[in-house]
Amino acid sequence: MENTHYDLIAIGAGSAGLSVVERAAAYGKRCAVVEQGRLGGTCVNLGCVPKKVMWFAAQLGLALEDAAGYGFDVARRGFDWTRLKAARDAYVAGINRWYRTYLADSDIDLIEGTARFVDARTLDVDGRRFTADHICIAVGGRPQVPDVPGAELGITSDGFFALEQQPRRVAIVGAGYIAVELAGVLNALGSDVTLVLRGEHLLRRFDPMVREVLAEEMLEDGISLLSGTQVAAVTRGQDGTLCLALDNGQRLEGLDCLLWATGRVPRTDGLNLAAAGVETDAEGYVRTDAFENTNVPGITAVGDVNGKAALTPVAIAAARRLADRLYGGQPERRLDYAQIPTVVFSHPPIGSLGLTEPEARARHGSAVKVYTSRFTPMYHALTPRKRQTAMKLITVGAKEKVVGVHLIGLGVDEMLQGFAVAVRMGATKRDLDDTIALHPTSAEELVTMR
Ligand SMILES: Cc1cc2nc3c(=O)[nH]c(=O)nc-3n(C[C@H](O)[C@H](O)[C@H](O)COP(=O)(O)OP(=O)(O)OC[C@H]3O[C@@H](n4cnc5c(N)ncnc54)[C@H](O)[C@@H]3O)c2cc1C
Repeated sequence: MENTHYDLIAIGAGSAGLSVVERAAAYGKRCAVVEQGRLGGTCVNLGCVPKKVMWFAAQLGLALEDAAGYGFDVARRGFDWTRLKAARDAYVAGINRWYRTYLADSDIDLIEGTARFVDARTLDVDGRRFTADHICIAVGGRPQVPDVPGAELGITSDGFFALEQQPRRVAIVGAGYIAVELAGVLNALGSDVTLVLRGEHLLRRFDPMVREVLAEEMLEDGISLLSGTQVAAVTRGQDGTLCLALDNGQRLEGLDCLLWATGRVPRTDGLNLAAAGVETDAEGYVRTDAFENTNVPGITAVGDVNGKAALTPVAIAAARRLADRLYGGQPERRLDYAQIPTVVFSHPPIGSLGLTEPEARARHGSAVKVYTSRFTPMYHALTPRKRQTAMKLITVGAKEKVVGVHLIGLGVDEMLQGFAVAVRMGATKRDLDDTIALHPTSAEELVTMR
């Protein structure tokens, strides 16, 4: 007979839901996770993982261009999108299978279907009832599409991962990291890309130096940037191509793909949260305190759905700490959301941690000292394609404590993690200066800045 009562049920088998039940089960709790789609959630199926596969492909495409500078006689004769997609899908399917086995091996029940609250302790999953002493809402989010005529003719990042053919002429609407990343991938793989931004800048929350260098590099790579404008309407012409009418009067015609990257919304609308009395904010994010508690005792919310920081490692860390607190005898355990390092897989990539320069100056005034460096990395010394690396360290006070690290350039995506440890431990500029450089690397610049 099917078990119907648990210590903990997580709604959603994404990064957050899987992590909370995994840790709770390790403490000996009887756990289940409800999932309406594929195991692994957004990150595995429609986010980080397939995106990074595409980024690797794009990097290889660029490396083929660079190879001539190193004496190779190679020509890029073609690129088979369909073949890459099949390989990528197979890789993702392997991760889905791995999770299924892992849940079974960990004695965690997988309940397949869509969960809705019946009351604060009871869930309905496609007509079946399950109860739990504790329910964790980990339903994540989904892409949002603006309300303009013809919007449905476009796709979102979800649709991007379903594309069987490479689009030739693409408009991407948005200025966030997903817009920037997908624009870079498509461009490097040979599509003609126009990025349409409502504001003036890409990556609004990032340090201005990084944003400016990225915009320059994207233009250099041949991506068109149309800033300060919005899409007013989308139509399909008789030849099947799409046309965007922009609110500045401009028209973008002959597109075979429109991709909305205009933000994400929490997936809370179908949960019947009212039946449990769980409060959300105006945008639908579940309100939680610093310990991920909702306003209803016994119901918590972690991951993208609580609107704190939509990143996989954040979802995992918050979920594990939640289980430590609930079942591991660690009543004060919680995630500190300050100083979360983040990488944007643009071309070139970005790594960012801590305060931006405007934030640091607003908070610490004249106590701020900034170090910057901009150079052509050695790799590009011989390549026909020249790309820049730029680095910024932001320090505060007489001891020059490092409060911000902002990097853009080849390899910075792999560079930031170690510096994140140092900054978390309270590193000062002196600590960096006292560290022996690794030579010849780009990273050595971070310990030799004047
Ligand atoms: C294109 C893209 C690229 C990204 N790249 C990165 C990256 O490089 N690095 C990074 O750190 N983050 C990245 N992210 C963000 C990352 O994917 C999310 O932060 C992370 O997946 C959030 O995990 P989660 O568990 O909160 O939600 P999700 O992973 O979205 O999981 C929620 C799960 O709940 C299920 N669900 C929803 N409602 C119900 C219901 N009622 N009943 C049953 N199941 C339900 C959904 O099907 C889903 O599987 C990216 C996101 C996108 C969209």
